[in-house]
Amino acid sequence: MKVDLHCHSLASDGALAPAQVLRRAHANGVQMLALTDHDTVAGVPEAAETAKALGMRFVAGIEVSSQWSGVGIHVVGLAIDPDNEILKAALDEQSRKREQRGVEIGRRLAKLGFEDCYEGAKKIAGDSELGRPHFARYLVNQGYVENHGSAFDKYLGAGKVGDVKSQWPELDEVVSWIHAAGGYAVLAHPDKYKLTRMKLKRLLTDFKAAGGDAIEVVSGTQNRDITGYFTRLCEEFDLYASCGSDFHNPNTQWCDLGKVDPLPKSCRPVWQLFC
Ligand code: MN
Ligand code: MN
Ligand code: MN
Repeated sequence: MKVDLHCHSLASDGALAPAQVLRRAHANGVQMLALTDHDTVAGVPEAAETAKALGMRFVAGIEVSSQWSGVGIHVVGLAIDPDNEILKAALDEQSRKREQRGVEIGRRLAKLGFEDCYEGAKKIAGDSELGRPHFARYLVNQGYVENHGSAFDKYLGAGKVGDVKSQWPELDEVVSWIHAAGGYAVLAHPDKYKLTRMKLKRLLTDFKAAGGDAIEVVSGTQNRDITGYFTRLCEEFDLYASCGSDFHNPNTQWCDLGKVDPLPKSCRPVWQLFC
C-alpha cells in the first residue's frame, strides 16, 4: 500500500488547494493520505470530501510547531478530530501569537524606514499563517533588498532586527493537544533538526515521556543509513513508524506526493493505530 502521511496545501504554505493535493496523490497511486498543514486544520474538510469521491483512504492531520530545549520541533498529529475544542482553542491562541509577532516585526522594520511591512506581508500571506518568509518577499517586492536570501541575512535571520522570538508551545503541550483531539503524535522529519545523536536521543526520551506515539522514520526519499538508524530508534524507544513526503509544491520534483521510500519491514506502521 502506498502511504503518504505528511503534506501541505494552500491552507498553510503549500501551493495546491486541498482538493488538488488529493487528486495529485491519487494520480500518483497513493492509497492513504494525511493532509498535515502547519498549525491549521482548515484544509481538512475539503480534503476529506475529495478523498471520499476518489475512494481514497484519508487521515485528518496537522503539523504543529513546538519547541524543545530551544530547538524548533515539528510534531505531526494523525487521525485527529479537527473539530475538537481543545485543539481548536490551542491553535487559535497560536495564531493570535503569530499575529502579534508579525506586528512586532513590522514595527521594528518601520524603525529602519521600511514602511507598511506588516500590511504588505499580511497581503502576501493571504490565508496562510504569517511568517518571516512573507516579510522577506515584501522587502524584495519593494526593492528594499535584492532577494529572499539577503532579506534574511540583513534583516530577518537569526540575531537580526526582525528576528522576533516566536513563542512556540512546548513539545509536551503539543503532544497533549493532539491526544486531546483523539490523534497520534509523530515526531516529524527527525533528520531536519541537525541534532547530535545524543541530543536526538534526549529528544526522543522526552517525546516518549510526553506520550509521543511515532517517529517519521521515512521523510521523502532519504539515505538508507538514516532510515536504518531511525528504525533502530523506534525499537529502542518503543515507538511506531510513520512516513511522508512533506510535499509542498509540484515544482519541486524530488519531493512529490507518494514519493516516499517504503518503511522497513521491522517497523510497526503508525496506521496500525487507526486503521
Ligand atoms: Mn512548510
Ligand atoms: Mn516540518
Ligand atoms: Mn511539513
